[in-house]
Amino acid sequence: MKTIYLDHAAATLLDPAVLRQMQPYLTDQFYNPSATYLMAKKVRSDVEEARTRVAKVLAARPREIIFTAGATEANNIAIHGVMAKFPQAKVLVSAIEHDSVLEIAQQYNHALVPVDNFGQVQLDELKKQLTPDVVLVSVMYANNEIGTIQNLTAISKIIAEVKAERQKNKNPLPLYFHSDGAQAPNLLPLLVKNYGLDMLSLNGGKIYGPKQSGVLYVATGIELEPLIYGGGQEFGLRSGTENVAGIIGFSFALEKAAKKRAAEAKRLSALQHIFTQGLSSHVPTATITTQSGALHNVVHITISGIDNERVMMELDEAGIMCAVGSACSASSDEPSHVLTAIGLSDEQAQTSLRFTMGRSTTEANITRVINVLARLVN
Ligand code: PLP
Repeated sequence: MKTIYLDHAAATLLDPAVLRQMQPYLTDQFYNPSATYLMAKKVRSDVEEARTRVAKVLAARPREIIFTAGATEANNIAIHGVMAKFPQAKVLVSAIEHDSVLEIAQQYNHALVPVDNFGQVQLDELKKQLTPDVVLVSVMYANNEIGTIQNLTAISKIIAEVKAERQKNKNPLPLYFHSDGAQAPNLLPLLVKNYGLDMLSLNGGKIYGPKQSGVLYVATGIELEPLIYGGGQEFGLRSGTENVAGIIGFSFALEKAAKKRAAEAKRLSALQHIFTQGLSSHVPTATITTQSGALHNVVHITISGIDNERVMMELDEAGIMCAVGSACSASSDEPSHVLTAIGLSDEQAQTSLRFTMGRSTTEANITRVINVLARLVN
């Protein structure tokens, strides 16, 4: 039986072309990039080339790119990095952030910014919460469960206004804007300056690159307190011998994602339409959570009366892999905080399924999923 994989928000296949770029660094180019002989210097220059490749996609400077072990680490470095420097200050995070943002924010003076029923940050609330003691705002670019894309430009405009006000009032506290962009690169542009971002987290495991690879973009001039101390690699922000194969793989994966972005967005948008139309016609008890304007690869639904765990397992037996709630969360027994934040009840959350499409997804896949789902549910 041919399987259908619809959990691309959790993990993507490692692109064979990316793997080929990584392979030399897993074998004969094993040298420590900090060593001083010629072979190691070549590896160092390959790492720096990768940094430049990443910077280009973000329209940033190479010195602004910190290689990390994935988005969890990047998010932790960003939030700890600012908050440890300003322990009396406050961080604002949206109510639908990934746990890797929420959990580190909870270690500090923090507040949650509410979202509306579509998962959009309530800008009026954000304005109210931007008191003179706030030093950092962290709002994800695109949500991993329901696909909501935030209006980063509008948020950064509000932040700029607050900064101007602070200057007038002689409040010396800086105000930074961080975004978790883990779900974005396959479908959305990443031009950090256009969104007024000070920091952006990205992740290789979602873009057909290696897991435990990623970056934190940190705009010039921002000083962060390191989370990991040691040999001072990555400009002192992420000590430890570099994961060279991961760095090289991430850089090529990001470059490829950027190249494919426009075409994939168009293709997946069409598939998303077919998917939601098919559900409306063949699974009338399904309600689609994902709003138009959300990430084009996400179809999040609730189906009244079902036990989502059971339907997920039955789909699995039929060769269809999808998620209940979010696969990013290790404690999947609890109702998803994202679904709660957009106003779904615990009962509704327990009837939810998430399908996330990717490069391998075809129209035939979607037709089959709808047919199987209709048979299981109706
Ligand atoms: N942020 C978002 C939005 C995610 O979807 C994920 C997914 O796992 C992460 C952060 C964490 O990434 P990782 O587990 O690879 O560190």
